[in-house]
Amino acid sequence: MRDILICGGAGYIGSHMAQWAAAHGYTVTVLDNLSTGHAGAVRWGELIQADLLDTSALERAFKGRRFDAVMHFCARSLVGESVSRPYEYYTNNVTGTLNLLETMRRHEVSKLVFSSTAAVFGNPIHDVIDENHPKAPINPYGASKLMAERVLADAAHAHGLRSVALRYFNAAGALPEHGIGEAHACETHLIPNVLRSALTDGPALKIFGDDYPTSDGTCVRDYVHVQDLAQAHALALDFMGEHEGAHAFNLGNGQGFSVHEVIAAAASVVGKAIPFEIAPQRAGDPPKLVASSSKAREQLGWRPQWTALTPILESAWRWHRAPPSWFPNQN
Ligand code: UDP
Repeated sequence: MRDILICGGAGYIGSHMAQWAAAHGYTVTVLDNLSTGHAGAVRWGELIQADLLDTSALERAFKGRRFDAVMHFCARSLVGESVSRPYEYYTNNVTGTLNLLETMRRHEVSKLVFSSTAAVFGNPIHDVIDENHPKAPINPYGASKLMAERVLADAAHAHGLRSVALRYFNAAGALPEHGIGEAHACETHLIPNVLRSALTDGPALKIFGDDYPTSDGTCVRDYVHVQDLAQAHALALDFMGEHEGAHAFNLGNGQGFSVHEVIAAAASVVGKAIPFEIAPQRAGDPPKLVASSSKAREQLGWRPQWTALTPILESAWRWHRAPPSWFPNQN
């Protein structure tokens, strides 16, 4: 299984996947509509600019090529935005996935690694979330990903599709030495926002809520380095070689950090205090999301290398301090 199509390979996690795959001997093709990704981040294979909602363009992308497997990172992925613009989320994340699956079926590509999310679980009822935790998404983003997971289960029965859904907790970090990292024109994520406020004299960082039922009142998340996520995808390819059906794994470090803890750790990485102000809670944010990744460790053989928060923050800091020329103007 050496020839892979990475849908969304110009984006944050997809570009790290492409780097990992090329470094491990895979032939990489990237398909991306460049709506949020960057041509400059596609450095390890051909770029096909196409949208999953454009079925003719998808057909052209598959015609004359022979992919052994597809990795599907294309998605709208902002929780808050999904609450205010649900139709866009269901269209992109569900219809886009259906279009991709139908094209794969026609071209007899029968293996898919799917980017899923901790947001499929909704408000946790256990301290640490394993795969058996009830799935009750509280925002359209999580609901759209859960729908796509359900489609994968049905596709296994109907068409023999083999799939692995990987539910990321909070992707973080960068590989500045390879020229890739997080680069969103509209940045909503905590770590890049913290680092940007250390770099600029712009408005202070906003902490969205300090009245959650957590130890310091701010939300707790499980930060996992994108390179470790890429490693898990490669292991999922091997897993599908041996296992039929639709499978799902949670990917995180198993350790939760509050927003205050992230800010404090970032302040010691950047060597200065990071000013912040308290703002209202953001719609759709659960108080705490921490993964159990035992299943991924046991069944995929996943061994995350970036297990501490500080090196993850350092890699992101090196990236944000010296971004490439294609890094977007942020608002
Ligand atoms: N957050 C924050 N200020 C920001 C961005 C995020 O307080 O500028 C909080 C957010 O409310 C959540 C946590 O940081 O509790 C992680 O948010 P992020 O958007 O990075 O990831 P998410 O968990 O939503 O996928």
